[in-house]
Amino acid sequence: MVALLWLLSACTEPPDSLDEIRKDGVLRVVTRNGPTTFYESQGSPTGFEYYLAREFADYLGVDLEIEPVVGLEELFERLEKGQADIAAAGLTITPERQQTFSFGPSYMTVKQLFIYNREKLDKPEDETALQNLRIRVLSNSYHAEILQQLREEYPDLRWSESRDQETIDLLQMLNDGEIDITMVDSNEFHANRAFYPEFRIAMSAGTPGKLAWAMSNRRQHARLLEEMSLFYKKIEENGELGRLVDRFFTFNERQPFLRTQTFLQMKDERLPNYKGLIEQVAIEYDMDWRFLAAISYQESYWNPKAKSPTGVRGMMMLTLPTAKELGVANRLDPLQSLRGGARYYKKLYARLPGGIEAPDRAWFALAAYNIGLGHLEDARVITEKRGGNPNLWKDVKESLPLLRQRKWYKQTRYGYARGDEPVRYVENIRSYYSLLTWDELNRYRVPPPRIVSDYLPEALNRGLNAL
Ligand code: GLU
Repeated sequence: MVALLWLLSACTEPPDSLDEIRKDGVLRVVTRNGPTTFYESQGSPTGFEYYLAREFADYLGVDLEIEPVVGLEELFERLEKGQADIAAAGLTITPERQQTFSFGPSYMTVKQLFIYNREKLDKPEDETALQNLRIRVLSNSYHAEILQQLREEYPDLRWSESRDQETIDLLQMLNDGEIDITMVDSNEFHANRAFYPEFRIAMSAGTPGKLAWAMSNRRQHARLLEEMSLFYKKIEENGELGRLVDRFFTFNERQPFLRTQTFLQMKDERLPNYKGLIEQVAIEYDMDWRFLAAISYQESYWNPKAKSPTGVRGMMMLTLPTAKELGVANRLDPLQSLRGGARYYKKLYARLPGGIEAPDRAWFALAAYNIGLGHLEDARVITEKRGGNPNLWKDVKESLPLLRQRKWYKQTRYGYARGDEPVRYVENIRSYYSLLTWDELNRYRVPPPRIVSDYLPEALNRGLNAL
């Protein structure tokens, strides 16, 4: 009888998600395609949400199954139907969503930005000025919720919603003049901005959004949420979360705008002449060609005849002694220079202390390429003295500039150095590298069909199309 009662109650109780995930040995994650969430790089998945989800799957001791879908509607549908355990897609916690979904701890706070194309439109100064413009946002998004709230105050506000599109599609439409305004999260804006030099922020809207993972309330998540809280606490404390944020977001925000524009122009004008050589050397040295391309751009703007007053030369700007050591006979020969530079980079990479892990190891090797292993080691020692982690780039890059200050360099083994330079050097290369990666994402992605949502009354959509 007791067993029967237990069985009956077990039938009516919603299933426990953590039990199911553990039983299947798989965490099923649904996500969206874009530079802030999930994309492919050289045939491997990458992106902020991807890494975060992978860490969580590791933490639970299960495999990760990640699937990108197009649009928020499909994303929420999959959650509802139980086809995914969690959605990891830059989702904002909203009161409306909280009626159907549970959210994990928030990992980032963003602003929602109205964006316009300054080539096609004068800056709309306030919400009233938005009223006659063609606005388009993702359907089912927080942005659509904000617009609905705004309409209470500005009844003439009109907009359309894309059901089967991604943020990157909206940005493309804005670029092509198909719409006047879109709203995106600030992290997305910064990640995409370099590709759209004419985009500007008109204003922000709504209360700042807290981003988190979402789960359907059809299952019980109390235990999964508990694990998730412990996981987030852990990655916040051990610096992993900060490292991921640093890796995927912050550097592009700081990157001077003009510099990215020059880069993108050179990428079209100069890179094609050397891309074949760069790819060849990258294969020889087992590197990502885009990474080698980013380094050589930072070194010489892809100019094989580059010269500096200090005597460094060529595509990879090698000094004479380094060139000799690397067996480079002619520094002005781009193939030799690239090979020399790649070999030097790999050598430094291998010589770094064991505790420095990828991807930070790459940033450290670059810093050493720029300033030498000795000064870099000094900065690691300073980092430790200041209570930071000498194996994390985000900590060591704070200490490197201190090598200019007597108070600090007098305590070091190799003394004074212009330690701010390797920091700029590394951050530039990282940003060029990500531009090359995202450029491919945008270029080779097949855009989804552009379907105007029927979310708005038909008459409204007609009006919009007539605008
Ligand atoms: N954070 C947005 C939302 O939850 C999605 C990201 C975007 O499309 O900008 O609706």
